[in-house]
Amino acid sequence: MSGSESREQAVFQITNREPMPVKKPKPLSKIWATDVFTLTKMEEALSKKAYKAMKKTLETGEPLDPATADAVAAAMKDWAISKGANYFSHVFYPLTGASAEKHDGFIVSDASGKAITEFTGSLLIKGEPDGSSFPNGGIRVTNAARGYTAWDPTSPAYIMHTENGATLCIPSVFISWTGESLDKKTPLLRSNAAMNEAAQKVLKLMGEEEVSTLNSSCGAEQEYFLIDANFANLRPDLILSGRTLFGAPSAKGQEFDDHYFGAIPPRVQVFMQDVEEQLYRLGIPAKTRHNEVAPGQFEIAPYFEAANVAADHQQLIMTTLKNTAKKHGFACLLHEKPFAGINGSGKHVNWSVGNSTQGNLLDPGKTPHENLNFLLFCGAVIRGVHKFGPLLRAVIASAGNDHRLGANEAPPAILSVYLGSQIEGVFEQIKKGKLDDVDEGGIMDLGLSQIIPFAKDAGDRNRTSPFAFTGNRFEFRAVGSNQSVTGPLIAMNTMLADSLNWIAGELTKALKRTKGDTTKAVISVLKKLMKENEAAVFGGDGYSAEWHKEAKKRGLKELPTTADALPYLKDKDVKKLFKSTGVLSDVELESRFEVYAEQYILSIAVEARLVVDMAKTKIYPAATRYLSDLALAAASASEMGINIDNNIAKNIGKNVNGMMKAVAKLEKAIAKDKFKNVEAHMQFCAKDIRKLMDEVRKFVDALEVDVASDLWPLPSYQEMLFIK
Ligand code: ADP
Ligand code: MG
Repeated sequence: MSGSESREQAVFQITNREPMPVKKPKPLSKIWATDVFTLTKMEEALSKKAYKAMKKTLETGEPLDPATADAVAAAMKDWAISKGANYFSHVFYPLTGASAEKHDGFIVSDASGKAITEFTGSLLIKGEPDGSSFPNGGIRVTNAARGYTAWDPTSPAYIMHTENGATLCIPSVFISWTGESLDKKTPLLRSNAAMNEAAQKVLKLMGEEEVSTLNSSCGAEQEYFLIDANFANLRPDLILSGRTLFGAPSAKGQEFDDHYFGAIPPRVQVFMQDVEEQLYRLGIPAKTRHNEVAPGQFEIAPYFEAANVAADHQQLIMTTLKNTAKKHGFACLLHEKPFAGINGSGKHVNWSVGNSTQGNLLDPGKTPHENLNFLLFCGAVIRGVHKFGPLLRAVIASAGNDHRLGANEAPPAILSVYLGSQIEGVFEQIKKGKLDDVDEGGIMDLGLSQIIPFAKDAGDRNRTSPFAFTGNRFEFRAVGSNQSVTGPLIAMNTMLADSLNWIAGELTKALKRTKGDTTKAVISVLKKLMKENEAAVFGGDGYSAEWHKEAKKRGLKELPTTADALPYLKDKDVKKLFKSTGVLSDVELESRFEVYAEQYILSIAVEARLVVDMAKTKIYPAATRYLSDLALAAASASEMGINIDNNIAKNIGKNVNGMMKAVAKLEKAIAKDKFKNVEAHMQFCAKDIRKLMDEVRKFVDALEVDVASDLWPLPSYQEMLFIK
């Protein structure tokens, strides 16, 4: 099939597709968490004693006794079978960023050969998948394959329905036989524990008598693109690398800003409702949905939850988006930059910490200057961002996210923190040793009788900041759409733990100096904290060239690529941070660096090979065919005594040659396999390979605007973004 035929067929199929039936949304009360083994279901199924033990584990993180585990397992199995599941699976989160599962049947045969179902506490608690094919960054040699999955009772089990049946899914950690973490969940749980321990110390020093266990919370906003699957299937780059490696801009892009918050296209709305229904059944509180800035771009955000549960739910949201898209004839693109020249996708990670006795410690209340706990926790975050900015950059580093950070659509690759005028004002006072009231938001009165006046927020939003205070939480805005939220949450919890430990030490000394005057002690600790860390506070335009200069002056690191950022995982301060808090050992941290570096190198290698392949087998044939058409046309015309303009032919010739030259250079670069170390290999990918890929692209995109549309083999940006 020629280029145009396959593309025309795709358009034909899209225009003639049977629309998915519009289902009336089911009442929430009928579907909410029906596929989750909730605490309420446990209460119904367990003895009073077992239920109490289970509840205590959930609240305090204390281990479960074996008898209760047996009882929970039996109840879980009965419930799962009643929902049609014959299999169970420990679901875990290896370092690839994906979710992994190994299914086991409930079935066993008894002595008489009869099949019965069984699920014991020990099966619930521990699984033993062969872990040798999961990346472990040198923690284990391949023949030492033993890895364990262990049940995380703090994240509820659920039923996953697919076309081939139902499976009981049990959220789990994944560790090596030697006890090292091979996954993302283990350090998240540890980071939460470290943060809790440090926060307890500070709150006790502040005179709080009752302090319940602190937990971190997360609400993640997920951006994504939807394009018709008929187009996606014609693009090997989208299928294999998740982004378009070639593509001339559409005559109309996002310049009208007419997509942002616009009416959701009907076909997309049907898709969204389907997604939401599945999420509600899984107990995931999907709350907002809207069109995003770029054409074809959308967002979904659940209501925030405990970080550990939110992280598991985030993975389920990504899986549900992708699977449901397929069902609706869409491809859901989670890549950070599927299309050049229009906005990419991020995942804003909203994060706060709190407990049932003190509430949200990042909530300033109406009078922030009087809320000493808030000021200490907020100060702790400022210190964290300052001391561990490069770590925060490293945990969001990926080949995909490199395309966003630093482009003028996403926060820059420099980590700073935005506080908003009111909170920044309070900290300015603190630097002078005072704690005075500053501007509040006030009332928004439009002077229109029909609009009810409302309270204004105390600070505006700053969309250019990678890390912004947004009223009662911090929003880490530089996270990539395709990434697990776990890395950022681990980094934030751990840096907070470190800062709170520092504060506890300083506060103890200060309280002695001030003879127990808490306010004075807090001011003096925070004054010192700000003196040392104020460089990270920035409220201006993060996109501006001045900021890049200013940041450098302030000693903040700008780390444009993954190759620049990832090595900070091995930085001595970062090692000390993770070791002292017990979140990751040196070996575990080192292994993470190895795995992420390898993933970066592999993703770029896949893209580079695709560029070569597509240029040679799709673009070159199309361009030369057209050239031959033009040559024939010119010859025939000249026989008739007509001279036709041959500039296009000349251009095509020039661009084909340019493209093939660049392809040859790229092939040579791909073949290079000797590097001093992984760092050097990553730099080669970031600087050389990426540059050569861009060079090929420049010629291909120039060809796309000259070659006859009916010969062009790839669906265009205009087709993919605007035809639904
Ligand atoms: P916006 O796009 O205006 O920033 P959204 O409503 O799309 O806001 O998303 C904000 C996210 O922040 C939601 O997931 C919300 O539940 C979450 N969130 C709100 N309060 C907190 C909090 N205290 N801690 C963590 N996340 C929060
Ligand atoms: Mg937001």
